[in-house]
Amino acid sequence: MSTQPTASHFINGKYVEDAAGEDIPVIYPATGEVIATLHAATPAIVDQALAAAKAAQSTWAGWSGTERGRVLRCAADIMRERNHDLSVLETYDTGKPYQETSVVDATSGADALEYFGGLAAAITGEHIQLGDDFVYTRREPLGVCVGIGAWNYPTQIACWKGAPALACGNTMVFKPSETTPLCALKVAEIMIEAGAPPGVYNVIQGYGAVGASLITDPRVDKVSLTGSVPTGKKVYAAAAEGVRHVTMELGGKSPLVIFDDADLENAVSGAILGNFYSSGQVCSNGTRVFVQKGIKEAFLTRLTERLSGVKMGDPQDPDVNFGPMVSERQRDIVEGFIAKGKEEGARLVTGGNGVDRPGFYLEPTVFADVTDEMTIATDEIFGPVMSVLDFDTEEEVLRRANATDFGLAAGVFTANLTRAHRMAAGFEAGTCYINTYNDAPVEAPFGGTKQSGVGRENSKAAIEHYSQIKGVYVRMGDLEAPF
Ligand code: NDP
Repeated sequence: MSTQPTASHFINGKYVEDAAGEDIPVIYPATGEVIATLHAATPAIVDQALAAAKAAQSTWAGWSGTERGRVLRCAADIMRERNHDLSVLETYDTGKPYQETSVVDATSGADALEYFGGLAAAITGEHIQLGDDFVYTRREPLGVCVGIGAWNYPTQIACWKGAPALACGNTMVFKPSETTPLCALKVAEIMIEAGAPPGVYNVIQGYGAVGASLITDPRVDKVSLTGSVPTGKKVYAAAAEGVRHVTMELGGKSPLVIFDDADLENAVSGAILGNFYSSGQVCSNGTRVFVQKGIKEAFLTRLTERLSGVKMGDPQDPDVNFGPMVSERQRDIVEGFIAKGKEEGARLVTGGNGVDRPGFYLEPTVFADVTDEMTIATDEIFGPVMSVLDFDTEEEVLRRANATDFGLAAGVFTANLTRAHRMAAGFEAGTCYINTYNDAPVEAPFGGTKQSGVGRENSKAAIEHYSQIKGVYVRMGDLEAPF
């Protein structure tokens, strides 16, 4: 497969290049080799993309919901037909194993396109009777939306933002992370093949500065970011200048609480899924694993046994289940956290080392005896590093679980039904799990509280964030005035 795209950007239904833009080398994380070179958008490219999105918006909004939905559902079908090729590309872009990408990335993108395609025709206003008078509401699009993505799920993020935006009659300019610029271009190609008019979904490349220039452009009505909390604060502030709508899907340091009555095998599975899937590069990961003291050693023993099932290697090999970190930089950041964990006195149970092969591999790493104030328990690591903390009581663990500025996700494993729901109610987090972890079906809302974000992606809730209500008052009789 050629990993060099036809051109760097996809605007107004066509690939577009401007070689004057800064080089973006695309590095395959499994080998460190450069597999493509793209160019960051110049101001002329940014302008071209926004002009295309602006020009297409009113026509697209004029289509009926059924017509828009048909395009999105057709795009979903094409994505599913091409799942193999899209998954191979996602693996080149991110280094995540094909075993994961073939079942998660283009497939969840297709789910979003299908779901919002199905909802598009049902996006309606309401009628409010006021005696003889009445008010009706129109649910209208926001206009031109900018999507800015992180590097961990490039296809999924491009679809999670694009599908609800387009279903509501908006148009989009999407900027992927410069670390993983390849996959969103395929989403843009597919939209056109599925029948979207040119300009409805555009992709431009660039470093943070390109994202920043998009946010402040007067043609932009909404910004949806998936990224870290520091970037989120900058983007939120820049969007506020123009009083633009925002969705912020930011970072986390989520708690996963395991009570001693939990099914141990399931709890270990939850901890593995919530820490080591995608080599730990998942925003909602439950990286603070609180284990009730009575089962702590049994948990650590079983977890260590299960980690012998890790198979690292060429991520394109379908038997490989653990890939490299996305970049050398990210690997170095995570190694820094591992060193800090050792320095601050956490017990290294397993892992902690690089791997003697090319690429940015790191062993899955488990620390035990972690305390609340250690850096590995307070900071988002975004790598395969699990911190196991002990606890005694429900009240204590809930207080400690919530003692963070993040609030993205939280999970609990217990056999006690009422306790499970009490914990879910008590967690200060936008997305909670009972006896599972990290499921993210498109039907369910996804997003964070506190500093982990604003707004929700997926589910019917996303419609609220990509549309606005207009109220229209209709008087049926004569109108009186004081003079
Ligand atoms: P970053 O915050 O570094 O970057 C996110 C995106 O924002 C990138 O496209 C980046 O471009 C762009 N960007 C950076 N600075 C600016 C700016 N000033 N104005 C506009 N755009 C800017 O995140 P990462 O890519 O490193 O992704 C990891 C982070 O994303 C983690 O914190 C993780 O938790 C979070 N995340 C959250 C998810 C959620 O749904 N809540 C899901 C996945 C990840 P560039 O890369 O070119 O700098």
